[in-house]
Amino acid sequence: MRIHALQTGTVAIKEGQRQGKGHGVLRQLNMFIDKTWTEPLPIYAWVIEHPEGIIVVDTGETSRTSEPGYFPRWHPYYRSGVREWVRPEQEVGPQLRALGIAPSDVRWLVLTHLHTDHAGGLHHFPQSEILVSRTEYRLASSLTGRLLGYLPDRWPDWFAPRLLDFAPQPYGPFPDSYTLTGAGDVVLVATPGHTPGHLSVMVQDGPVQILLAGDTSYNQQLLLDGIVDGVSGNETVARQTIQRIQQQLRDTPTVYLPSHDAGSARRLEQRATVTFAP
Ligand SMILES: [Zn+2]
Repeated sequence: MRIHALQTGTVAIKEGQRQGKGHGVLRQLNMFIDKTWTEPLPIYAWVIEHPEGIIVVDTGETSRTSEPGYFPRWHPYYRSGVREWVRPEQEVGPQLRALGIAPSDVRWLVLTHLHTDHAGGLHHFPQSEILVSRTEYRLASSLTGRLLGYLPDRWPDWFAPRLLDFAPQPYGPFPDSYTLTGAGDVVLVATPGHTPGHLSVMVQDGPVQILLAGDTSYNQQLLLDGIVDGVSGNETVARQTIQRIQQQLRDTPTVYLPSHDAGSARRLEQRATVTFAP
């Protein structure tokens, strides 16, 4: 199966966001107090050329983020917690066309979660079936969601995704899943933590599983080290998801691909699995 990594620009965050420090409210506070920026991290979206239709996972970010006022100025995270760089040609639409794929040919758009750097390219997909977890959509559209930094005002008017209610359906170590393709080789698994409604996409590709992991961790090493990020509201839930992914890596040859890991594109190309055996 052909799977492409599309880098839709870069983002820098505080070190305390990438790698949570402390516990409880302190962990989230530390993210804001932290003065150390990460290096610019890639913002990946993924394209799966599946026999049943093109599947895109996440949209990446939009170049409009450089317009003054695109991000809400009142919001402390956008004032001092994040920096993004996206050129128009880096948006997911133009990059799909460069691959010879019209965005209107995308059958399914799956969103791991609705943070701006994953949903900023929604406007390219008015004709696709868009899937989001109901938990994620509800939170992101609420007032609480705005306070948490979601940007529902930036979603296209037509945005009405299919809302997924994950039911108990074990897939490897993940208790809740939803099988997307008829062939059963693309499965969405609930991976709550970074956000309560976060999901990841498992692709069976020959002998290996490819895990398009969204923001379950900012890179592979942090996952192996079992470090919860600074964003996760519920540390216990986030840790449980991290442990489930570690279990997946123990049980099955898996290529682990977080959205902001500079090593993800290379590991995808080389189908580089990771062994986790503490
Ligand atoms: Zn995120």
